[in-house]
Amino acid sequence: MRSRDILGKFLHFIVDNTLMFTVAIMCMVHVVLLMIVWYAGVMPLTLFNSMSVIIYLVCIFLCKHDHIMPVYMSIILEVSIYSTVAVYYIGWKSGSYNFLFSIVPIIIYFGSYLFKGIRRWMIVLVLALIFALYALLYTAYSNINPVYEMAGTVRTIMMLFSSFVMYFSVVFYSSIYIISSEIEKMGLELTNEQLSADASEDALTGLLNRRGFIPRIESLMKSDQPKQFCVAFCDIDNFKGINDTYGHDCGDEVLRHTTALIKNEMSDCDICRWGGEEIVILMKDYDFVSARQKIEDLRKLVEKTPTVFFNKRIKVTITIGLTKYMENFSKAEDLIKIADERMYYGKQHGKNVLVSED
Ligand code: GH3
Ligand code: MG
Ligand code: MG
Repeated sequence: MRSRDILGKFLHFIVDNTLMFTVAIMCMVHVVLLMIVWYAGVMPLTLFNSMSVIIYLVCIFLCKHDHIMPVYMSIILEVSIYSTVAVYYIGWKSGSYNFLFSIVPIIIYFGSYLFKGIRRWMIVLVLALIFALYALLYTAYSNINPVYEMAGTVRTIMMLFSSFVMYFSVVFYSSIYIISSEIEKMGLELTNEQLSADASEDALTGLLNRRGFIPRIESLMKSDQPKQFCVAFCDIDNFKGINDTYGHDCGDEVLRHTTALIKNEMSDCDICRWGGEEIVILMKDYDFVSARQKIEDLRKLVEKTPTVFFNKRIKVTITIGLTKYMENFSKAEDLIKIADERMYYGKQHGKNVLVSED
């Protein structure tokens, strides 16, 4: 568990500082190249590599101050110029053109942060220019002798090293892309959970959700006043059939329409979307007889008021379980459980009914 935490923190750190890592790695690559060309006695390239190391040291400083665009441009220009000069001095067979391909993932990854929307064509332009430069170098230098003819072993080392840099770049950025999108996904999931936990309203119907509803019953139960209220548990009949026959959008519309009807009819009550097509109504200050009458009227109203969806008239009915508050109930869920059980009995015995007794 501890090692997973450490790994998670390390990955977070890399994703948050990818540009800094990139620049540091490029700096190290040039230190290695500097040593190879110095050993091979290629003085112009030794000089160039020294300059590149200095450029990347400056870039590390720029990264620290969040100057991403200058760093991005420096990487592209430095690599383009270095590859051209290296192919010129030590030849095509040194593989120095591989550095051009090694920055392709960098151009795409950081370009997608820097250029948004329509400006993304800039990325495509830069990628096209990089390939054009490669084609130009191939045409100009692949068949001619370089200024410095390096020994076979050193040339092989150069070729393998540049290939490795290209390979590393592809693997590193693919991994970073996957890790950062997973981190982003985890963040979104957490935010969504937080948002839905914070909200006390259901988004589709505008009714209270359980989180907003339960405290309303509890506060009535805790009240010092004489307690007289009822809870009705309503469930739309054969709702799955509506989804299956007319589609999910139609099901949503039936839900919206039915809940709007209930809200309108029971405007003096607190109403909750308990689950998918389940609605619980808290009827404050209703004695059992008047609650039963009111709910029976509601059942009939739903039955005769179809939902209109794209010129189709869709009729639904509801089955309801009703209970009144009794002193032996200790928590809100006790009331809901009884109402739910009565509703369930109604489902078993023909649906479209109100059940108010055990
Ligand atoms: P019964 O008469 O026994 O209640 O049958 P039913 O089909 O109404 O009940 P069942 O529990 O079999 O199916 C409920 C369906 O409600 C399944 C689920 O896909 C659907 N549902 C739940 N929430 C939503 C929603 O927000 N929108 C839509 N369109 N469908 C939903
Ligand atoms: Mg149902
Ligand atoms: Mg149901």
